Amino acid sequence: MEYWQQSLKASITTPAQLAKHFPLDVPALESVVERYPMRITPHYLGLIEEVGDPIWRQCVPDPLELQAGGLAEDPLGEESLSPVPGIVHRYPDRALFLTSNVCAVYCRFCTRKRRIGCREHGISFGEILAGIDYISRTPQIKDVLLSGGDPLLMSDRLLGDILGRLRQIPHVEIIRIGTRVPVTLPERITEGLCRLLSRSQPLYLNTHFNHPREIAPEAAEACRRLADVGVPLGNQTVLLRGVNDDPAIMAALLRGLLRIRVRPYYLHQMDLAAGTGHFRTRLESGLEMIGALRGQISGMAIPHYVVDLPGGKGKVPLTPDFLKQLGPRAILRAPGGERVEFPNDP
Ligand SMILES: *Cc1c(COP(=O)(O)O)cnc(C)c1O
Ligand code: SF4
Repeated sequence: MEYWQQSLKASITTPAQLAKHFPLDVPALESVVERYPMRITPHYLGLIEEVGDPIWRQCVPDPLELQAGGLAEDPLGEESLSPVPGIVHRYPDRALFLTSNVCAVYCRFCTRKRRIGCREHGISFGEILAGIDYISRTPQIKDVLLSGGDPLLMSDRLLGDILGRLRQIPHVEIIRIGTRVPVTLPERITEGLCRLLSRSQPLYLNTHFNHPREIAPEAAEACRRLADVGVPLGNQTVLLRGVNDDPAIMAALLRGLLRIRVRPYYLHQMDLAAGTGHFRTRLESGLEMIGALRGQISGMAIPHYVVDLPGGKGKVPLTPDFLKQLGPRAILRAPGGERVEFPNDP
């Protein structure tokens, strides 16, 4: 077993284990974990400074998750955009390829929490092959995004096999990997993995930092290793109430990312996913934040603020000029031109 696999095994997966480190209401959390699993790696646990801090809020189950509050299990309509299991094909030239159903840490705000970490949604090798087959017979697809779950929780061997097969498809021009392991399990970024990724160029890696305290020395080192073998690094942040919905914290995060050679790509408005409503912010909060950052920090550090419209209608970038048009139900224009209502009522 590799060292990172041992770390994963040493992770906390029950409230009782966490109660050995921090005071907490074990039975209340157990009822959450029955529905939405928990896992906190030793590295991520070590970033918690106190109960309720921004690291804690992202990884420790909260009874508020059991209040759906009218939010959907699958807000982005991914299941309906799925031609074969594991593929989400919304934009003609790009496809999401969900190759893993597990993550190093189960983020409490995850938009796919309906299925991530749940045994019944495991992905078989046969399904992965069927996904590769779909990509190979769909020549419009130029860009494959490996996502999940976290694709870097697959073994080097399985990941190498998948990348090799994708590389043999002539119309696949670029591969992207979406992963949070540089943040949550930085020891996963081994030399062997870096060699494998550098052999699959052009390959882009998008990671997921949400708070400046996640830019720990180990995470910085993981990003350095990736950047040194020539893997371009981007970052997707989710705007989270009580975690990073503060312009000073956001500026510190974005600046810190450029320092470790990670280019901020997207700032995501929270999706309307059941069990995550307590993290929602108003659209004004994101727009004001982008407005405050302009002129304050390098343009290279400023991500696109995007709303992923319900029902799979696509991502819409919002800029501060949108402010005047907002109300409790914002009307946004989908990539196809359609006007779509987005609730702005948290
Ligand atoms: C976000 C997303 C993509 C990638 O979009 P980019 O804007 O190119 O990064 C592709 N497919 C789906 C289903 C998505 O949600
Ligand atoms: S790493 Fe990504 S997919 Fe996994 S739980 Fe966190 S947000 Fe969800």
